Amino acid sequence: MAEATNELAFLVTGPAKLIGVDNGDQRSLESYQGSSRTTFQGRALAVIQSTGPQGPISVMAFADGLPTGIAGVLAVVEGGLLLFADCDGLVAAGAGPGSVIHNAYGYGLFTGGLGIHQGAIELGATVVPVSGGMTPRQVTLIRDLQPDILTCAPSYAIRLGEALADAGLRPGAGLALRAGVFGAEPWSKQLRARIEELLGLRALDLYGLSEVIGPGVAAECAEAADGLHVNEDHFLVEAVDPVTAEPVPDGAPGELVFSTLTREAGPLLRYRTGDIAALRRGPCPCGRTLVKMSQVTGRRDDMLVIRGVNIYPSEVERVLLGHTSLSPDYLLVVDERAAQSQLLALCEYAPDSPGRDGAGPDGAHGPGPAEADLELRLREVLGVRVGVRVVPRGTLPRTEVGKAVRVVRWAGGEPPVPGLS
Ligand SMILES: [Zn+2]
Repeated sequence: MAEATNELAFLVTGPAKLIGVDNGDQRSLESYQGSSRTTFQGRALAVIQSTGPQGPISVMAFADGLPTGIAGVLAVVEGGLLLFADCDGLVAAGAGPGSVIHNAYGYGLFTGGLGIHQGAIELGATVVPVSGGMTPRQVTLIRDLQPDILTCAPSYAIRLGEALADAGLRPGAGLALRAGVFGAEPWSKQLRARIEELLGLRALDLYGLSEVIGPGVAAECAEAADGLHVNEDHFLVEAVDPVTAEPVPDGAPGELVFSTLTREAGPLLRYRTGDIAALRRGPCPCGRTLVKMSQVTGRRDDMLVIRGVNIYPSEVERVLLGHTSLSPDYLLVVDERAAQSQLLALCEYAPDSPGRDGAGPDGAHGPGPAEADLELRLREVLGVRVGVRVVPRGTLPRTEVGKAVRVVRWAGGEPPVPGLS
């Protein structure tokens, strides 16, 4: 019997079943433990050719942003397309008929924009299909159309919030936003607080991945905003040890593993996502009984190993953003020029901070209080030394479209950020 892989799951015709996918042999879900892969193998065309019994495939969604960096082709039959709408991330945020949804997720080769759009239409909401980037145009549209729901990546919500503030649009003064549905990248409670302050809305996490369906695999409800309800009608979730693939108990962080229960084209069986989060069961004030996942704390492949200590960028973010004088922009530089790698966190003062604007890595002012304070805090939290430099405002790269780049490696040559030594 062939070893089960995600490739095999791709080649299954018909809805994914938890048993009986290997040439009719009956196997339990547990027997697939540890055998799944995290990468697409470029075999999606095989799926398209093998879905005859379900009738023609009505939609193909092309997706980039897959973990391997390669473009993949996602096949979606009609039922699968409706699944975007079925998943109730927008409903959980309080959207419904009459809502105006400003959708700033990308529409090109990314399931985020298309998935949210389809869900919004299905709800009877009005959707502003603005896609990502061109921030001045987004500000104009928000001012003129007064959306109540904002959907985009959390790093872009900050960018947009700052641009709106610059245009004189603030909570209670020109903004009607009630809730934001922010996904596509890991983010922290500290970033949530910043977004809510800037935009005056309830900031909610949305989780999805193109390989599984796109947005709407799990979503936070506005009532609790405390963990994401996994849409168990469609997806079976498990959390496993990222190294051994053994299941971890509820409450412990593990790598999320999904099996699709209703997807007809490209079903997945025990697909290892690489995303680290903890599962939790129990009642929720919103009435949903679906299992909750914590916010994703990192990706297995984003994990940095500094002097033998495992660090996720989100752990550093929590400390940096806990310092209120700093802006939410930061960049982690893994300095690999010497034999032993060092981690350097670059950040900027917030625009209205009394901090020394212009303090830079040139050493002209010596290390500022924020730097010393943060280095101490990071050492306490992470158990390893992380250098901190507050650089002049505008030094760090901003992300207009797609996912924010939070980590760069510096193996030699020019520094990743001007002025760094
Ligand atoms: Zn809830």
